[in-house]
Amino acid sequence: MTRYPESVDVAIVGSGPAGSAYARVLSERAPDATVAMFEVGPTVSQPPGAHVKNIPDPEERSRAQTLSEGPGAGAETVKDPGAVKAGQRRARPGTFLLDRGYQVEGEDGLPVAAMSSNVGGMSAHWTGACPRPGGSERIGFLDDLDEMLGEAERLLGVTSDAFEASPYAALVRERLSAAVDEGRVAESRVQPMPLAVHRRPDGNLVWSGSDVVLGEVTRANPNFSLHDESLVTRVLVEEGRAAGVEVKDLRTGETATVRARFVVVAADALRTPQVLWASGIRPAALGRYLNDQAQIVFASRIRDAVDGDADRHAGTGVSEQSGVSWVPFTDEMPFHGQIMQLDASPVPIAEDDPVVPGSIVGLGLFCAKDLQASDRVEFSESERDSYGMPAMTIHYTLTEHDRAVIERARQEIVRLGAAVGEPLDPQPFTMPLGSSLHYQGTVRMGQSDDGTSVCSPDSEVWGAPGVFVAGNGVIPTPTACNPTLTAVALSVRGARRIVEQLG
Ligand SMILES: Cc1cc2nc3c(=O)[nH]c(=O)nc-3n(C[C@H](O)[C@H](O)[C@H](O)COP(=O)(O)OP(=O)(O)OC[C@H]3O[C@@H](n4cnc5c(N)ncnc54)[C@H](O)[C@@H]3O)c2cc1C
Repeated sequence: MTRYPESVDVAIVGSGPAGSAYARVLSERAPDATVAMFEVGPTVSQPPGAHVKNIPDPEERSRAQTLSEGPGAGAETVKDPGAVKAGQRRARPGTFLLDRGYQVEGEDGLPVAAMSSNVGGMSAHWTGACPRPGGSERIGFLDDLDEMLGEAERLLGVTSDAFEASPYAALVRERLSAAVDEGRVAESRVQPMPLAVHRRPDGNLVWSGSDVVLGEVTRANPNFSLHDESLVTRVLVEEGRAAGVEVKDLRTGETATVRARFVVVAADALRTPQVLWASGIRPAALGRYLNDQAQIVFASRIRDAVDGDADRHAGTGVSEQSGVSWVPFTDEMPFHGQIMQLDASPVPIAEDDPVVPGSIVGLGLFCAKDLQASDRVEFSESERDSYGMPAMTIHYTLTEHDRAVIERARQEIVRLGAAVGEPLDPQPFTMPLGSSLHYQGTVRMGQSDDGTSVCSPDSEVWGAPGVFVAGNGVIPTPTACNPTLTAVALSVRGARRIVEQLG
């Protein structure tokens, strides 16, 4: 007797925001459809998928992070004390590193390629920055992209005013604007970062995770079920179309078959192609065009910051002095800038420095990558990863152009740091590749089945009707901005297609 249904209309693999968006749209638009979501990781927060930053107790929060760090050796690196600057491999809390196959000799690799295994996926741990893509980041062949992005903002609960009252936010933006805005159109000028966060009536911040994407409508849907600690090992294809999934119950070790008319694989940009590959669904572009955003960081002490508002701290460890500011990507300046208070930033550069609370900002610039088919994740016929799935090997090389863009970003970040205040270090730091956690392209969308894409503009895999892919891997353009909003927008489009086909 398994705990799974025998058959459903739609099976969703992965409970991150991309998979959750399918569940939400189906719950809203096709409430009679039966939907089962399978997640390999455990439930670590309530409601399921909630951001761990919303857990007030630090020990409980830390336990939720540890539970998300997977079963393999990659999790051990999490406990390694700091030293990103020394180039050490280190994972962020709640994530675990690909423990081998992350770099092939003679290539750049993705030394800190990371994943999260928990209900909510990485969105239980993320920063929540949700900028819209601009210029060449946009997917030119989708006429309805803006409508979909608007829907994605609704599903993720994106706001731009959560940090409105932050004492240094306006100051930081004013200084950045003076350095950046000349000649830019309104939407690419410096502005508050749209964030997946809202403020409760009691003043505390609530960060969106998959719980927000699922929403009450999904939780209350009697036709929806969420199964944690359940590894999907294979998508079943019969007579050329989706027929269900094979699931391993990690609690009992038993394997079950769940039949489904539609299968959505939303298992992150590395594991979505893994599941397809394990299922024998192997379009030529599968795993290829992998792209990560090279990330440059720098820290600056806000000039003339006065310690007037030091008590303004959220209950969840993120203080709110300077908010999060956004320097949008443009084709002329092909970086995406995120400027936030250092203690909210992933890289604790100046931890020991006694400072006016909130007066040090971390600047981050993300760079778009030159796309190459040779940048790819490959899967082994014989070796297995710690879940027993085909082991991965990453092939990844920066081009001359990539190196030139990184150099430009290094110069630009110093200029921005000096505009905001006094830089803490003479040089910016280029993070090890993979740090952005924004891996894209591995199941990319295309207009036609010409060998350079894995799925249609509706996210349906070429040659495998009824099998849909979701997540950052679907994004075909090399973006520099945080990709989750775009990935969720593409999920909305795919989910609507399923609703149409359900009839
Ligand atoms: C610290 C941090 C900060 C970040 N900041 C930002 C940010 O500011 N803005 C932004 O846009 N993005 C950010 N990200 C990235 C963001 O979280 C991801 O882009 C987003 O979560 C991707 O959504 P997803 O649903 O595609 O994948 P995920 O959230 O990774 O979810 C995929 C899920 O699939 C599950 N899974 C994998 N394989 C299987 C299988 N075989 N069977 C069953 N389940 C499986 C995984 O366990 C996982 O839970 C950040 C991430 C982290 C960790």
